[in-house]
Amino acid sequence: MSDICQSCGLCCDGTLFVSVPLEAGEVDWARGRQLPMFEKEGVSFFRQRCACFAADGLCSAYDSRPAACRRFRCHLLRRLEAGEVTENRARAAVEQAKQLRDRTTEELPGDESLLKRVDAFVKSLGDSKAPPDGALLAFRREKRQLISDVVVLSLLLQQEFRGPKKDGQSDGKTEGDRL
Ligand code: SF4
Ligand code: SF4
Repeated sequence: MSDICQSCGLCCDGTLFVSVPLEAGEVDWARGRQLPMFEKEGVSFFRQRCACFAADGLCSAYDSRPAACRRFRCHLLRRLEAGEVTENRARAAVEQAKQLRDRTTEELPGDESLLKRVDAFVKSLGDSKAPPDGALLAFRREKRQLISDVVVLSLLLQQEFRGPKKDGQSDGKTEGDRL
């Protein structure tokens, strides 16, 4: 495992993804670990935050982790390995994302992945095209810091960790199934 990954874990803790697809032969692996699962269009997924993501920030099932986890390399890791970003810049991006994750997690407690909670929070802010009523304006004022954190975190995740998607490219883990 890369050094940078050992200090990160954003692709396992529900910040970047809400679920991970399983190959047919991996379903028993997930069942054996009592990972919450769902099925869509014949594919099984387990939900994040992954229960195998341990308190020390490492994968407790590293040697037997699913193929999607083995394949996955975020945009930041790929650029680091290609020499397109420095180690310092990569570490700074991870630290900034973790600080924003921690502050956002504190403000939006719950059992679901942070990504889902952020989605729900953004929806609660209302339709940006409709004129906000007094209660909504007061809510937005009260949550100003959280709104700022959510915006910066989302941009950071997109630019540094997800990156531009090429046609046919699969990350292995998926954020598509927010069920
Ligand atoms: S998000 Fe990227 S840097 Fe962080 S653990 Fe996953 S692959 Fe490694
Ligand atoms: S199995 Fe391991 S690598 Fe895969 S999501 Fe869970 S903690 Fe991360």
